[in-house]
Amino acid sequence: MRFGERYPEGVAQLYWIETLGCPKNQVDSDKLVGTMVADGMDRADRLEDADLVVVNTCAFIEEARQESVDTILALDQARRPDAELVVTGCLAERYGDELAVALPEVDRVASFGVPVTLGRTRSADPVGRSRFDLLELPRPTATAPWAYVKIAEGCDRNCGFCAIPTFRGPQRSRSIDAIVAEVEQLEVQEVVLVAQDLAAYGRDQGRGTRRIVPLVDEVARRVPWVRLLYLYPSDLSDELIDTICRTGVPYFDLSLQHVSRPLLRAMRRWGDGDRFHDRIAAIRAREPLATFRSNFIVGYPGETEVDHDRLLSFVEAARLDWCGFFAYSEEEGTHGAQLDGKVPVGLRDERLAELRALQDRITAEKRDELIGSQPLVLIDRPGVARSAAEAPEIDGIITVPDHLPVGAFATATITGATGPDLQAASAELSTAPAPAPARV
Ligand code: SF4
Repeated sequence: MRFGERYPEGVAQLYWIETLGCPKNQVDSDKLVGTMVADGMDRADRLEDADLVVVNTCAFIEEARQESVDTILALDQARRPDAELVVTGCLAERYGDELAVALPEVDRVASFGVPVTLGRTRSADPVGRSRFDLLELPRPTATAPWAYVKIAEGCDRNCGFCAIPTFRGPQRSRSIDAIVAEVEQLEVQEVVLVAQDLAAYGRDQGRGTRRIVPLVDEVARRVPWVRLLYLYPSDLSDELIDTICRTGVPYFDLSLQHVSRPLLRAMRRWGDGDRFHDRIAAIRAREPLATFRSNFIVGYPGETEVDHDRLLSFVEAARLDWCGFFAYSEEEGTHGAQLDGKVPVGLRDERLAELRALQDRITAEKRDELIGSQPLVLIDRPGVARSAAEAPEIDGIITVPDHLPVGAFATATITGATGPDLQAASAELSTAPAPAPARV
């Protein structure tokens, strides 16, 4: 059935988009939505009503690839027979034609920058017709009081377990003006800055200096809360620590990955447990309310019982607020894939379970310590809020009375804790924290 016959003048086509993977992918989806809306499409309320079904996939590790394939097949089953199924994102970029052959259910594989609306557009100047730079595309105003903002694409590092640079490319930082314009367009109370290697922002802009500090200052002058995710530990300068503390969100998401020096070297990464300890202690001395999150990889080739014990002791002693532990996944083309000393899956999973149980206990204890405190919180949705200590989607929440308006700030009185989550029986509306003053 030809386009014109199916969609008489004035009838918008409907799209459905499914997003997998990390916050950076979420931003990409927002921007793809911007292109579909610009091409005259509307969002379908139900998948079955959609004319175009888009899956924005993840391909970081085996588990994520499997989830992407499962989701594609499930959407294929659920879609209307004449609806188009388009796969984009990291799986499409990494496997392109191979994916199209492997999944005949898919109508089109669109790698980065290739339109998902090919052949569907009616608008005079379709965004979707030519390749576009996803990083710089406009996005619709946010639908929540917070939003991720992607400040760069790609990465210049080559960590032994990570294939991202092979399909996301070398680091490309956006200009501060473009980022600030997007922040103003979003109209939110909290901006969460994301990139593969956030603290290296601007290093590729030829001035040899990182520009994360002036960027955070500029953003913090426009929104009450600025949060930073994915900080590589060696880039955590005193100046950056001061800047983060001045934003009113002393939240440190440190991408540590392990603490054993020999294993970190085999991962082609900087640091060790002692240096991480010292950095965390220095930050806590500077800002006692500082919150810490980190991620660790378990089962990297060559990992010994001694390495594992070192990580257990570090987690016990550092008492970080939030931690993610991930099973090592052998990635084609990475240094790790060439290493001997593969850790048996059973032993890896045993170590994972031990670390997760330890951290769950620490997180719950630290949450219990907050009973009686009165943090400033942002109302995310009716009855649900977060303070500066909880990042959206990955940390716990604070339940509050549900009459408080979404997007408002309030002073909550913490009366209970259940695992990672807190309860506040009462909360008083309060003024939004003033954006950070300009640095003199
Ligand atoms: S910093 Fe390392 S883990 Fe992160 S995207 Fe770059 S190469 Fe991958």
